[in-house]
Amino acid sequence: MESTLSPELTEHLEAARARASAATSNEDLRAIDRDYAGKGGVVAGLLAAIPTLPPEERRDAGQGANRLKQAIAALLDERRAELEADAIAEARTGKGFDPSLSIPAPARGSLHPVTSVTRELEDIFTSMGYKVLDGPEVELDSYNFERLNIPADHPARDMHDTFWCEVTGAERDSRMDLLLRTHTSCVQVRAMEELAPPFRVVVPGRVFRQESVDASHEHTFHQMEGLVVAEGLTVGHLIGAMKTFLREVFRREIEVRLRPGYFPFVEPGFELDARCPFCPKPGAGCKVCKHTSWVELCPCGMVHPAVLAKSGIDNEKYTGFAFGLGLSRLVMLRYQIDDIRHLMGGDQRFLSQF
Ligand SMILES: [Zn+2]
Repeated sequence: MESTLSPELTEHLEAARARASAATSNEDLRAIDRDYAGKGGVVAGLLAAIPTLPPEERRDAGQGANRLKQAIAALLDERRAELEADAIAEARTGKGFDPSLSIPAPARGSLHPVTSVTRELEDIFTSMGYKVLDGPEVELDSYNFERLNIPADHPARDMHDTFWCEVTGAERDSRMDLLLRTHTSCVQVRAMEELAPPFRVVVPGRVFRQESVDASHEHTFHQMEGLVVAEGLTVGHLIGAMKTFLREVFRREIEVRLRPGYFPFVEPGFELDARCPFCPKPGAGCKVCKHTSWVELCPCGMVHPAVLAKSGIDNEKYTGFAFGLGLSRLVMLRYQIDDIRHLMGGDQRFLSQF
């Protein structure tokens, strides 16, 4: 580029180069930039002189001035990089420090997909009048099983491969049996203890199962429990709540269906399926719903009267419904993630996509 400059412009360029070589800070470089490319600088002067030139020289003069400007910008960039490299080298040896040097912007993180979906669902349920509750991840046997109508010899315990905690130092006492909660349902019991009906709560949280890990099973995953206790609640209210929730999530009406399901703490118990929201046409079937056009959404049901009674709620007066949303599953559905292990895997390449 420089070879195409006229002798006069080359002289300007060499002068600028000499000053840049002598520069020791970004401030020096900015001064050179001002003197050549700034208002009233050398390039501006050259451009201003063009109208005084014979017409046949004007085009070359204009192009030459622009080339000079580019050449100076390039040499200033080059010198700036040199100065930065020098400063880094000096900083490593502990000598010299130029606070005016620019530094690369720090990489910013983003919310984990489970966190974003949890917050979104919390907003939806809050707008429906629900309270968001929290509970301990290390839980007592009585809250996780006993008071949810799952006594020690109940076969339903086999469905939950439980991580038990070893309690040392304490006297052996079955009331002190600790475990990592296998579902968020234990917070139902805590809610019934603490709140007087009528109430509506949701409980997002981590749960743990001793599973063989594969693409659809993890030892640690997320659920969101819901519990509503009031006078005169029926299965119709449960379906209404689920349909409202789905309408908020997908911004349109979603058909649901109930299949019988067995969970000791609800009676009757159901599996709630939703019409697959990802099918190209309703009922068409797609990869997400495995071509059935339905996706399993959550186990749910009317709270078993015995569960209400165990927490001191008058089961003659009050009824309740409960549902257990698979949060991890919803996140996978939402973002079309096909392997649950990504969620807790901590792989930056996965997480940085959100
Ligand atoms: Zn589908």
